[in-house]
Amino acid sequence: MTNLRFQVVGEAFKKKPLDVKASDERPCDYFGKKVFNREKMYKYLPKDVYEKMIDVIDKGARLERNIADAVAIGMKQWATENGVTHYTHWFQPLTEGTAEKHDSFLEHDGKGGMVEEFSGKLLVQQEPDASSFPSGGIRSTFEARGYSAWDPTSPVFIIDDTLCIPTVFISYSGEALDYKAPLLRALHAVNVAATAVCQYFDKNVKKVTSNLGWEQEYFLVDEGLYSARPDLLLTGRTLMGHDSAKNQQMDDHYFGTIPDRVQAFMKDLEIQALELGIPCKTRHNEVAPNQFELAPIYEETNLAVDHYMLLMSLMKKVARKHGFRALLHEKPFAGINGSGKHNNWSLNTDNGILLHAPGKTPEQNLRFAVFIVETLMGVWKHNGLLKASIMSATNAHRLGANEAPPAIISSFLGKQLSELLDHIENADKDDLFHMNGKQGMKMDIPEIPEILIDNTDRNRTSPFAFTGNRFEFRAVGSEANCASAMITLNSAVAEALTNFKRRVDALIAKGEAQTAAIIEVLRQDILTCKPIRFDGNGYSDEWKQEAARRGLDVETSCPRIFERYLDKASIDMFSSLGVMTKKELEARNEVKWETYTKKIQIEARVLGDLSMNHIIPVATRYQSQLLENVENMKTIFPADKAAKLSARNIQIIEEIAERTTAIEKGVEDLVNARKVANKIEDEHKKAIAYCDTIAPQLDAIRYQIDKLELIIDDACWPLPKYRELLFIR
Ligand code: ADP
Ligand code: MG
Repeated sequence: MTNLRFQVVGEAFKKKPLDVKASDERPCDYFGKKVFNREKMYKYLPKDVYEKMIDVIDKGARLERNIADAVAIGMKQWATENGVTHYTHWFQPLTEGTAEKHDSFLEHDGKGGMVEEFSGKLLVQQEPDASSFPSGGIRSTFEARGYSAWDPTSPVFIIDDTLCIPTVFISYSGEALDYKAPLLRALHAVNVAATAVCQYFDKNVKKVTSNLGWEQEYFLVDEGLYSARPDLLLTGRTLMGHDSAKNQQMDDHYFGTIPDRVQAFMKDLEIQALELGIPCKTRHNEVAPNQFELAPIYEETNLAVDHYMLLMSLMKKVARKHGFRALLHEKPFAGINGSGKHNNWSLNTDNGILLHAPGKTPEQNLRFAVFIVETLMGVWKHNGLLKASIMSATNAHRLGANEAPPAIISSFLGKQLSELLDHIENADKDDLFHMNGKQGMKMDIPEIPEILIDNTDRNRTSPFAFTGNRFEFRAVGSEANCASAMITLNSAVAEALTNFKRRVDALIAKGEAQTAAIIEVLRQDILTCKPIRFDGNGYSDEWKQEAARRGLDVETSCPRIFERYLDKASIDMFSSLGVMTKKELEARNEVKWETYTKKIQIEARVLGDLSMNHIIPVATRYQSQLLENVENMKTIFPADKAAKLSARNIQIIEEIAERTTAIEKGVEDLVNARKVANKIEDEHKKAIAYCDTIAPQLDAIRYQIDKLELIIDDACWPLPKYRELLFIR
């Protein structure tokens, strides 16, 4: 009997890097080649149509039907010149991926032939028969009416022969069924709130944009090895596998030379991404073996999210072409680092001011302090909700479980920024600001030296760290759509800025000078949000206790963390900003709980199957071989000598018996626990039952299997081992 494992290991070793055709063009030349961007619009649309489109994109003007028709004509011309035959509305349902349904341009011409057609109507709205997407009961299957509507702020692009149109996906009664709709609403809210605050400082500011620069970590595994691991295939992570003797302890993978086969994959991926207008910038080896990172340059948040979703599907596709599988799961392998996705976030104005970057004058630095402090106010007030926004069954393996970051949201500011806030908090009020006769006002808001701020002593344990001109939200999962975190963060900051302005205006109405009013409210807020500031070690046990004392959310159970979405403060925030209604929030939580349950359920089934039809049969076979050996010893040697010589084998035989019994018992208990949990109708309670009674049992079974892996003959072990999955590339 040949062992599949040896076969796939042998083949993986022989694989050579694919030859990625180097283009004659430079990246700047093919950047955006497959995107209907402004340059293409200018070329393919009549001048007045082009101008109206720019108004729609930049100023949120209404898209009129005749304009949509004219745009569709230009778009189709560009698309057909590029070999396109189909189009699709591309959207982000509440799963982890994207959805698309392709239709061709073909229509009857009424004379027995066919023509290719594309109209404004088809561009703007579609009604996909999308009854099977998760909706949390908003759209019951018997009236499966949801529609997708074009988001003209994110440009249309081409994949293969298909024109892809980014859209929101909503129910006929107007509820969002996707990530994009609430994201656009949150970005609108933060724009309105931040613009109003900016106007205190600069009347020319008309718009504030939210920026996102994400950094994605991922693993690559050879496709053959992957296919021999049903757990990776079905759950995205290994449910068993003993530590490799060597893993990441030598720190020799981080920033190491990128392996050839991986380099070819990265090059291929980046060329295709650049053609799609995704500004890929950074690639490197990460800490764990076979772990890598990719980061584009930051963009406007809605576009960055679309590019994120697009790049992840592209990454999976290109990985397969190169004989790899890309693993986006947060914890594919126990015992080594998992993967995350840093979300670098900031706000900037339409006249080019980065609101989270320190300025040069006291006025600019006051504005900077306001935006820092109000960001902290949002993060402080909604710290539990922010954690909920990045929590999932898979990210639960990282957050507060086995590694960074902790399951407590706090913010690291660094020395210089902390000193600035402390100064504003503690300085004498009249020193901070007073009217200075003819010279106007005098303000004592110190400058932060640029060089210092750039080198902020980075605290890697902080989930929300200030890094010079932005905040870096580091707790986001590698598998998550960034939109979830961005909806909550932008909403929380929008709410904080709105409250700030309301209080400042109230003081001004009472006759206080504007700057004095700003400083007064700022000082109150510096005190209020203090509990969120933490520059120490986020992994320590003392911090967990300290955070609880400070009133921060320290819950670690995934389904319970989701409850934060239904807190009064969360519902009030989302509904007052028009981001999500209570009904939408409730529906989304149903989806979250259901998804959680299903993930654990699948893992439990896969582990049960593998235990019973892979591990126990192999263990028993090996045990029989040993038994035979023990018997044979007796035929050759005298009884006492045979017993002595067989002592070790008898020990192993016993150990196998004990461990396989424990596994069988574990699987049986797991099945019984599932039977109990499955009877629970309420999705919330069911998810809690899966979390409390099923998830922990997986680890207990795994423990026994990993011990067996150590004692069973390597030649019969059926599943590729960690040392193979992690070191063959
Ligand atoms: P790191 O040291 O964290 O790896 P990088 O310089 O590689 O930092 O940047 C990480 C990401 O942060 C990139 O996507 C980058 O474009 C983005 N970024 C830089 N400045 C900002 C900003 N002001 N707002 C949002 N994202 C930013
Ligand atoms: Mg970073």
